[in-house]
Amino acid sequence: GWRSRAAFKLIELDDRFQIIKKGMRVLDLGAAPGGWTQVALDRGAAVVVGIDLLEIPPIPGAQLIQGDATDPENQARIIELLGGKPDLFLSDMAPNTSGHASTDHIRIVALAEMALDLAFDLLPVGGTFVAKLFQGGADKHLLDPMKLRFESVKHAKPPASRKESSELYVIAKNFKG
Ligand code: SAM
Repeated sequence: GWRSRAAFKLIELDDRFQIIKKGMRVLDLGAAPGGWTQVALDRGAAVVVGIDLLEIPPIPGAQLIQGDATDPENQARIIELLGGKPDLFLSDMAPNTSGHASTDHIRIVALAEMALDLAFDLLPVGGTFVAKLFQGGADKHLLDPMKLRFESVKHAKPPASRKESSELYVIAKNFKG
């Protein structure tokens, strides 16, 4: 079975946008407890490297790191474990909420910016980027550079995402370099 309810969100996004292709190298940021990694492998990924602040119980075929994805040392480790550039860059990362709306907003945007910067560094031409954003966090300064550097940028709220949640996903395809 899938380890998380989040697994269904990736399944729905993949059914709609054809994100995962056979033989892909996949990076999964904010991977715990491992649902997205399971789905990527199930749908034919050749290599999945997952990282999370929390421990991720082992998944056959996946390389899992416990640590902060914003730490350059962990980023170097990711690149080493991937053995090449990731064809697909996934981020389901969400910061712990403080209950203080403006602080949470800043954290959400900072995490999304970090993921995007790392994707710009790591993705090969033609690569795909899928990330969780939050309404209000999907600012123009995140989306404008994405629209310049990917041929297609779409938003979706998969049915498995709770209606009350402000999360949505951005699906950016065909990185131009
Ligand atoms: N996609 C996962 C699945 O299907 O099992 C669920 C991911 S959960 C919604 C979000 C995760 O992001 C949390 O486990 C959290 O620990 C992680 N996270 C938040 N900030 C992070 C960071 N700086 N580095 C690594 N992981 C982070």
